[in-house]
Amino acid sequence: MAKRDYYEVLGIARTADDKEIKRAYRKLAMKYHPDRNPGDQESEEKFKEASEAYEVLSDEQKRGAYDQFGHAGVDGQAGAGFGGGGASFADIFGDVFGDIFGGAARGRTTRGADLRYTLELDLEEAVRGTTVKIRVPGHVDCETCGGSGAEKGTQPETCSTCRGAGQIRMQQGFFSVQQTCPHCRGAGKVIRSPCKACHGMGQVEEEKTLSVKVPPGVDTGDRIRLAGEGEPGVSGGPAGDLYVQVAVREHRIFARDGRNLYCEVPISIIDASLGGELEVPTLDGRVKLKIPPETQTGKLFRLRGKGVAPVRGGGPGDLLCRVVVETPVNLTKRQKDLLDEFQKTLDESNGSQHAPRKSSWFEGVKNFFEDMKF
Ligand SMILES: [Zn+2]
Ligand SMILES: [Zn+2]
Repeated sequence: MAKRDYYEVLGIARTADDKEIKRAYRKLAMKYHPDRNPGDQESEEKFKEASEAYEVLSDEQKRGAYDQFGHAGVDGQAGAGFGGGGASFADIFGDVFGDIFGGAARGRTTRGADLRYTLELDLEEAVRGTTVKIRVPGHVDCETCGGSGAEKGTQPETCSTCRGAGQIRMQQGFFSVQQTCPHCRGAGKVIRSPCKACHGMGQVEEEKTLSVKVPPGVDTGDRIRLAGEGEPGVSGGPAGDLYVQVAVREHRIFARDGRNLYCEVPISIIDASLGGELEVPTLDGRVKLKIPPETQTGKLFRLRGKGVAPVRGGGPGDLLCRVVVETPVNLTKRQKDLLDEFQKTLDESNGSQHAPRKSSWFEGVKNFFEDMKF
């Protein structure tokens, strides 16, 4: 059978750049990789074909030769470079196959995983900043085995499969690739009798206490990164980071929206009618709020600068107080009589002028009924 054109094999244009070549190969390799299709002859052939095409087209020199002379230009060359000094290819390969073999492939050091911790704060703490101690899972060397993972009195042995290298060369069709040693999983050592305290891990979990400095102005969803406080790395890789995620608890009085604070202030029907001075709370203490006469329920009063200065900078926002007129309850007979009497005075002096909203509402309802022909 005649060899197919390499570009055709990868399904790319002759003008494809390195990235497109890599992407095309990655797709095919993922699909036809022998690990994913055990025993499937056709997949194996396809994988070989794609690998060969990739090997040539990803090499500038070989690609040039192939472009000029076709298969004749590269015949006998394919696969030649992998036996010994295939470092550059191994790099590409590791890159291409990173997510098939996992990050730890080929004995590389691996960064530890990041951890997340949810830190609940009161609004006051979030606004002013604070320092809190948190306890997070950590790892320490196992005391029993001194971190080796081998049972007391024994030592880890050099892996016989890879002779301690942690990786082996595998014949993958017509070319050879390095793979993590399946016997020792890249460690280069095997533990015959694992330490019972740590199950051969060499480390045990132990909570650690960390001090977290929370800057003023943080809000729910903000993250504080503690570099190197995540999971430990593998094979000497760096530890991951710990992300402290802020969650601000609901406050009894204030609701926060960005830089602004909101609060509801109940006022009596008397204060609302005649006006008055209220004491309202702020995060810095009480302040006086003047309520003008004829204040309607729901009106917002803005106290400038009494909000929150956000952590990302900029001055503080405002405190917005929404007044809610409260209907008096538990009235005595006399109080009710007074209200009845008050109502009579309203009726006498043309009720609508005292209740503009009610009047316009009734007007609207009347028009509605007329339009609907009820
Ligand atoms: Zn141990
Ligand atoms: Zn091994």
